[in-house]
Amino acid sequence: MKIIIIGGVAAGMSAAAKASRIDKNAEIVIYEKTEIVSWGACGLPYYVGNFYEDPNNMIARPVEKFIEAGMNIKIKHEVVGIDVEKKEITIKNLVTGETFTDNYDKLMVATGAHAIMPPIKNLSTKGVYTLKDYTDGIVLKEEMMKDEIQDIIVVGAGYIGIEVVEAAKHLGKRSVRLIQLGERVLLESFDKEITDVMEEEIRSHEGVELHLEEAVQEIVEKDGKVVGIKTNKGEYKADLVVISTGVRPNTAFLKDTGIEMLPNGALVIDEFGKTSIDSIYSAGDCATVYHMVRKENVYIPLATTANKIGRIVGENLAGKNTAFKGTLGSAAIKVLDVEAGRTGITENEAIKMGINYKTVFVKDKNQTNYYPGREDIFVKLIYNADTRVLLGAQIAGKKGAVLRVDALATAIYSGLTVDEIGMMDFCYAPPFARTWDVMNVAGNVAK
Ligand code: FAD
Repeated sequence: MKIIIIGGVAAGMSAAAKASRIDKNAEIVIYEKTEIVSWGACGLPYYVGNFYEDPNNMIARPVEKFIEAGMNIKIKHEVVGIDVEKKEITIKNLVTGETFTDNYDKLMVATGAHAIMPPIKNLSTKGVYTLKDYTDGIVLKEEMMKDEIQDIIVVGAGYIGIEVVEAAKHLGKRSVRLIQLGERVLLESFDKEITDVMEEEIRSHEGVELHLEEAVQEIVEKDGKVVGIKTNKGEYKADLVVISTGVRPNTAFLKDTGIEMLPNGALVIDEFGKTSIDSIYSAGDCATVYHMVRKENVYIPLATTANKIGRIVGENLAGKNTAFKGTLGSAAIKVLDVEAGRTGITENEAIKMGINYKTVFVKDKNQTNYYPGREDIFVKLIYNADTRVLLGAQIAGKKGAVLRVDALATAIYSGLTVDEIGMMDFCYAPPFARTWDVMNVAGNVAK
């Protein structure tokens, strides 16, 4: 059995590790186009913001360790094509420039995604960055740490853009402007009640400006270096611009294979991680994931699912028949001093699904009044109006918000109703909660 894995990060290395443990006789080859494997991009904004100094902290296991353990990893090798009939891939050695082929019995595509570059004039100007790859982080931090770099513009208020704002503030930059084309920050992931809390937090920080419904049209350059940007509403000075307008799957090299993809190029996989071609599996940022509430394949590129489906694919590459039940799209974000988490569907998604739903939004306190550090906490629940089953939840606040979402993810997974959540035995002690936790309150307020 010869298994080839393309891409050596969360999905690819999870699969490789699992498959090699189950089938000790399988020949496994991993092709990775960079020189780093098994690292976590989630740490990039905090590295850039100098919350820690050593970029090696992002590397779970150096490539040498894998090779010492007997893994056949070919770094600096890019897979440039696949012949699905012959079960053959074409690889380019990025050091020598040589091209060669290799054959597989089973193949896993774990090539991740790349940053989308929006149609903005002069995007290739020096001083314009993205934050996706390891080297992006190294280069961006080097630049951000310079004293003369003081006015930062971040284009796109998704997860990465908001984390870059915190990074720039942590470095003490004079001004940080976050420019968002849409009407709200994080508008695909959170509802207005919760993004209002985030936006208030962003606006409350001195030196941070939030621009909504504004389109960046041009990077203004002088002597080949960025000095500002032009939008449909104005012109702003900038020493450095970060583009964070989403990601797109790295699947262009598969476009002539007939493999089923979503319009954005995400490979459609079933519960076993298998694509529409029998011997080809996929997982992670280059693939879809089945959404348990929406009951359809969606594109939600997160490390959590990349690791889990990657591991399941590893089992199946090694001959097992393990299924992934699905995602809830659970995710978390720190918006300066506010934390927020979400799981299940948003109200917008409920509308698109055409279901009979209701919502409840509660503003409460995270803990008792007499223990220091009490903060506001905001909970929104989306539930089926007929069955009262919980379908989605979002929580924001300065303390204890995000990890509460995990309880509600478990509730959605288990099909609990809002009434059951109202009486759920959540833990309590004065520094952490109130006797009726905010989640109980939300469940009980839901009419
Ligand atoms: P990747 O990590 O992208 O790895 C794919 C690998 O394939 C790459 O190394 C690439 O070089 C290689 N490759 C691509 N094409 C080829 C080819 N043709 N031949 C050979 N090799 C190839 N997720 C969370 O859940 N929580 C977070 O807080 C979070 N924060 C994030 C912050 C940032 C700044 C970023 C960028 C991402 C964040 N994510 C977060 C998302 C998370 O990092 C990804 O979901 C995860 O890395 C996906 O893993 P993957 O293995 O699918 O793809």
